[in-house]
Amino acid sequence: MPSTESRDIHEACGVFGVFAPERCDVASMAYYGLYALQHRGQESAGIVVNDDGVFAVHRDAGLVGEVFGRESLEALGQGSIVVGHVRYATTGAHRRRNAQPIVINHHKGHLALAHNGNLTNAYELRNALEEQGSIFHTTTDSEVIAYVIVQERLRTGSIEEAVYAAMGQIQGAYSLVISSPAKLIAARDPHGFRPLCMGKTDDGKIVFASESCALDAVGARFVRDIQPGEIVTVSQEGIKTDCRHCGSTSRNLCSFEFIYFARPDSVIDGTAVSTARQKAGALLSRQKPVEADVVIGVPDSGLDAAMGYAAASGIPYGIGFTKNKYMGRTFIAPTQQQREVGVNIKLNPVRSVVDGKRIVLIDDSMVRGTTSRGIIQLLRRAGAKEIHMRISAPPFVAPCYYGTDIDDERHLIANHHSVEEIARLIGVDSLEFLSMEHLGEMADCPFCTACFGGGYPTAVPVHGQKDRFEQKLPRNR
Ligand code: SF4
Repeated sequence: MPSTESRDIHEACGVFGVFAPERCDVASMAYYGLYALQHRGQESAGIVVNDDGVFAVHRDAGLVGEVFGRESLEALGQGSIVVGHVRYATTGAHRRRNAQPIVINHHKGHLALAHNGNLTNAYELRNALEEQGSIFHTTTDSEVIAYVIVQERLRTGSIEEAVYAAMGQIQGAYSLVISSPAKLIAARDPHGFRPLCMGKTDDGKIVFASESCALDAVGARFVRDIQPGEIVTVSQEGIKTDCRHCGSTSRNLCSFEFIYFARPDSVIDGTAVSTARQKAGALLSRQKPVEADVVIGVPDSGLDAAMGYAAASGIPYGIGFTKNKYMGRTFIAPTQQQREVGVNIKLNPVRSVVDGKRIVLIDDSMVRGTTSRGIIQLLRRAGAKEIHMRISAPPFVAPCYYGTDIDDERHLIANHHSVEEIARLIGVDSLEFLSMEHLGEMADCPFCTACFGGGYPTAVPVHGQKDRFEQKLPRNR
């Protein structure tokens, strides 16, 4: 749900899985679940149906609705386990071959794996695996996870023991949904960087998903979140949980899940996303009050925070922008020159709301500042008298290594400008970012705040992130 600046930031992926007690059309369930998770990744989509140990796979570049049609879903057939994935590339470029779930055929059976997050030691693990003779088919760190699990599977007595052993080697952010021939497994890294939850349908199907909105989409009741470090295994014998890795490190859910990534109708680690956003808005209004006529939010993820700000400050809430919902992949983006003369099709101010008004403008984040500057110009042209910008997150000052592409501090405006300088550069009357202290109050769970300068909860990679394995592949593959 892009707002202004956060259009520049992408989430790594969404994962989904179902274990059905009886063979049925699990592919359609994955299709609807992935549709609900589309905001977490728009570059590729894939589904693997497991029918009594026989895996059928369909995955490709594109949106869920582009990759899957009636024919491809029917071709996947029925089964009792399904794993699904939507992807945005944070490691490994946008290649059809990098679409997930990853499927590996090994000595003891098959494995399908869907991953959300980013490993911080993928480079070292992959080099070690290659030295032992592993041949990689993708440039993703997810394939590294799959190979480590398979290697452990050859040494251990069960897939869940292999996942447990692999979790002792892989570091960083990972929420995983894995199918073996007879089991469905969900696992979350001990920091709990990325969300992962479990639901159940009335007829006994167990569902795992990155966000609870995907459970709603398939008629499953939310049961609980997967705990950081937990491995949940579902089979015909029932549900087993293994928490030997739980509590081994600090808990660090990505705070940006609440600010921007997740859908507002999702509940993550006990907090409703829309409630957290409204709370951030309310905290901002107390942090730096201002006299104004109307509070407006930048669609979509700035809207909840704007409502929270308005309710807490007593300043009326207004719908300040109309967003064009019909811009697909074929839209030809305006050139810099066209932008300078005011071509802006995506967002247009509602003149009757902003003309002659003192405005509080709420957005969820600021990356380079260029998009904010464009929005401010649009509001000025529509007659805004004063613009007081409030950002419902602290300033970005450092890259993310845990599954988003906040990748280069040179591009982060707050890394090299003070708040006053940024206000001048983007042309607002005043500017305030949510404080780190208030960020911590937004939800009832311990956060990662590394990209806001809060310190990395793990060792960070020495090697670069995205595309670091690309050089290993010939061009045009
Ligand atoms: S560094 Fe920022 S975006 Fe990355 S996991 Fe931490 S809070 Fe989230």
